Amino acid sequence: MMSVTERIRQSLLALHMARALETLDHTLGRLEKGEISAIEAIDDLLAEELNLREGRRISVALRTARLMPIKTIESFDFSFQPSLDRHRITALAQLEFINRAEVLHFLGPPGTGKSHLATAIGVAAVRAGRSVYRCSLAELLEALTRAEREGRLAEKIRFYTRASLLIVDEIGYLPITPGGANLFFQLVNARYEKGAMILTSNRGFAEWGEVFGDPVVATALLDRLLHHAVVVHIEGASYRLRQHADLIPEHTRAHANLMPPAAPKRRGRPPKHGAIDHLNG
Ligand code: ADP
Ligand code: MG
Repeated sequence: MMSVTERIRQSLLALHMARALETLDHTLGRLEKGEISAIEAIDDLLAEELNLREGRRISVALRTARLMPIKTIESFDFSFQPSLDRHRITALAQLEFINRAEVLHFLGPPGTGKSHLATAIGVAAVRAGRSVYRCSLAELLEALTRAEREGRLAEKIRFYTRASLLIVDEIGYLPITPGGANLFFQLVNARYEKGAMILTSNRGFAEWGEVFGDPVVATALLDRLLHHAVVVHIEGASYRLRQHADLIPEHTRAHANLMPPAAPKRRGRPPKHGAIDHLNG
């Protein structure tokens, strides 16, 4: 006849509880020595298994959400960005805006931590079990354009509406091809009041007509993107350039936090201070 521990072993194996199986001997040992009670032993085994699975789920989800390399709120140096209210960011990281299907905007010049914070909130959402997907606007438009050409646009839009949080990074850096604004509008419309988004941009809303090359579509876009929205302005120096301020010639230093190094053309004008702060409802 099979012993009880042998039966437990068989059950754990059949249930694919590899980690609990691995821990079993150690847990039984502690039980025999009287270090833990039977109920603690059960707790031990289940917690080990759950921890492993949770860790695995998170690392897979972070990868499929394209949130690598990982950024966290804890690793964000708020003292470097005094215009930013730490409490506001930690409140947003509670993720209520996802339940309310709101749009969170991070606006500010390059290097001020927009992508970092967007990713960090995405990581918090993954840890909390929410589905997240991140891409740049350029990647999104490329995928939608290709899908449209191949007659799969509706399917692709469904893909981008699936996650409960969609992060669209880098609005305003690259020129948008004709038709791109329209495709983005279709996606925004599909998610409107259904799913949350985080958008990051180096351009103020007043410039979006120019960014999208179509003031009419830009107005319709902003109409949806600012209804139920939270707008966080970051105004400050580039974290990327913090150690190299002395390498930048004096006459460009004042603008160094406003312009990407490789972009000689006028770009990245900072948003007007306090233009729109918190739009809700
Ligand atoms: P943006 O998207 O605004 O251009 P990023 O979020 O990509 O800027 O920031 C550029 C780099 O600097 C990233 O590696 C980011 O992790 C880091 N970074 C930016 N701001 C901070 C900060 N306040 N504390 C720590 N790291 C920061
Ligand atoms: Mg960025």
